Amino acid sequence: GKPATTYKRVMLKISGEALMGDQGYGLHPPTVERVAREIKAVHDMGVEICMVIGGGNIFRGLAGSAQGMERTTADYMGMLATVMNALAMQSALEGLGAYCRVISAIRMDEVAEPYIRRRAVRHLEKKRICIFAAGTGNPYFTTDTAAALRANEMACEAILMGKNVDGIYDCDPKTNPDAKRYDEITYDDVLRNNLKVMDASAIALTRDNMMPLLVFSLNEPGGFRGIMAGEGTYTRVI
Ligand code: UDP
Repeated sequence: GKPATTYKRVMLKISGEALMGDQGYGLHPPTVERVAREIKAVHDMGVEICMVIGGGNIFRGLAGSAQGMERTTADYMGMLATVMNALAMQSALEGLGAYCRVISAIRMDEVAEPYIRRRAVRHLEKKRICIFAAGTGNPYFTTDTAAALRANEMACEAILMGKNVDGIYDCDPKTNPDAKRYDEITYDDVLRNNLKVMDASAIALTRDNMMPLLVFSLNEPGGFRGIMAGEGTYTRVI
């Protein structure tokens, strides 16, 4: 029968690195398409989808400033990188038949819509996937914060963090075989134990607004759809 969809509207956050495949840099179109299929499967369930994609596969402000660039300029470059990722994802999603809008926090009207909250809500109601690009539009922030901000503005019921591991562990599961995965953890414990989930300002924003956060693996085929249907392994932050 029809899977029990528990969420009507969600925010999916993925890092830019999720789109680079086995390359060390940039965009790998077949990987973008694979991720797009995962998203389309959830969209087909009738879930309204907001998305924020990072830019770390192309440029990070901190890396630029560590090499002598002026920080705010480097951060704007990082924001522009997220626009490229958003456009690649839009292209892949529309190739699969899912309508999609890229909405930029930095105006570039020829390329993407400007962010107008009510207009974005309307897109969601019309079942268009909204990709929020250019982060928050402000330097010194990250796309995690952008995801938390837009999730609240769009009244999403949860933030889904698509990672390359199936949740939050007490230490790195890639280097420690005894690492323990949490089924559930509080925001305060994430902050207290400095667990690498989102940066601290994004965690604070989700916590203060009691926004549920689900951390799951994007590498599991059908994983995103499974999570939305109440199956699979993930960590829930409350
Ligand atoms: N960035 C920013 N303000 C924002 C969002 C992003 O300045 O609101 C810049 C920042 O330099 C960051 C880069 O964009 O390093 C790429 O975003 P992020 O590091 O969050 O990407 P991810 O690690 O998720 O791929």
